Amino acid sequence: MQQAPFFQVIDGQLIGARQVASPNYNQRPEHTEIQLVVVHNISLPPSQFGGGYIEQFFQNQLDWSQHPYFQSIEGMQVSAHLLILRSGEVLQFVNFNDRAWHAGRSTYLGKKECNDYSIGIELEGSDDLPFDEVQYAVLAQVTAALQVAYPKILQHLAGHSDIAPGRKTDPGPFFDWVKFRTLLQQHKIHQE
Ligand SMILES: [Zn+2]
Repeated sequence: MQQAPFFQVIDGQLIGARQVASPNYNQRPEHTEIQLVVVHNISLPPSQFGGGYIEQFFQNQLDWSQHPYFQSIEGMQVSAHLLILRSGEVLQFVNFNDRAWHAGRSTYLGKKECNDYSIGIELEGSDDLPFDEVQYAVLAQVTAALQVAYPKILQHLAGHSDIAPGRKTDPGPFFDWVKFRTLLQQHKIHQE
């Protein structure tokens, strides 16, 4: 049986994740409580995996000339708190105490600017391909650790498409919310 990686949140940092600093963040508004997890997918170029381009993109270090698609996103400055690669490896770009730039114009339960109060998790994936099993397992482990640190997110898990409908489609039709919630529930039972 595969050993489950150990995840824990300490001072806004996810222990168990590889830390990669992104300059694309700012402060959350004062007295903002983290209360939402937003699930995304990303792949660069679209539907191609590996290559390290997402990492470079979130660090503003992507060479835009390397692929025609990159020119369509040239100069964009974005980030997410976490990225879960196809291998299951987790990268953290922004401290949870800070505001990452992943949601854009968005609304959740009538509250605008989801970046202010959410944690953004990108899965390396696309709208037209299934995610890897290990990504679900790791996403559930990570979310369970986040729920310990930020209890309000327990009831508030959303996709980018849920908070920016008509504008965003990710995590897409292949993301299996039932599987994710079932795995997450199993972690909760173990924690109790
Ligand atoms: Zn997204």
